[in-house]
Amino acid sequence: MLYRCHYIINFIKRMKKTILAVGAHPDDLDFGCPVMVRNLIKKGYEAYYVVVTNGENGSKENKVRTRGTRISTRKLEQIEAARKIGVKKVFFLGYKDGFLQYSESLRKRLTILIKEIRPEFVFSFDPANQDFTNLNLFHRDHRITAIATFDACFAAKNDFIIPYKKGKHMVSKMYFFGTNKPNYFLNITKDINFKLDVLASYKSQFPNFDNFKKWFLGNLTGWTKKYKYSEAFRVMDVIQIGF
Ligand SMILES: [Zn+2]
Repeated sequence: MLYRCHYIINFIKRMKKTILAVGAHPDDLDFGCPVMVRNLIKKGYEAYYVVVTNGENGSKENKVRTRGTRISTRKLEQIEAARKIGVKKVFFLGYKDGFLQYSESLRKRLTILIKEIRPEFVFSFDPANQDFTNLNLFHRDHRITAIATFDACFAAKNDFIIPYKKGKHMVSKMYFFGTNKPNYFLNITKDINFKLDVLASYKSQFPNFDNFKKWFLGNLTGWTKKYKYSEAFRVMDVIQIGF
């Protein structure tokens, strides 16, 4: 019996804890949660990114002309940003930018990834955020990614909705970025240059990085008066109903 306990404890110790972050376009996750993800990697977590669309229609670089080139450019930029953070792997789902639809195939693909990777925490846009106060934040692809990720977390804790060889998996918390109702702020004041360096990977998006930097620091970092720069999340505990 004692041997069996040791075996189980060692098995659990050997299992890497994981996190999964789901964005709609290359760069979404690097606006939303790169410092949070890097901090968890430093604590021993393995991080995986999912990028739902190719992001080919968000490119601002005139030189990047053909659709194929725009797709590959944005993919390489996302891989570079993920490398700086220490993300283990980026899964590109390959949907067309600006045309994302809620579909069973999208929910299924996300559910299978959750059942395979078995993350403790899942990051994405906030599905409760439907205020339509900002054209960029409430981009159709962002809204659909948020809802599909939320639904995939539900389906993943169920054996029958979308069966998978590894069985069901329940995440313990969901972290929603791009939220209007944050309940957790990560102080990134000391990490702001790291975050800017990650975002600088997106050369096709920010050809004039100095201009972008000024705008970013003035608009997308001051979520709370407590910290000069922060990342903001609505954190939701996933509760197992026990009856
Ligand atoms: Zn986006």
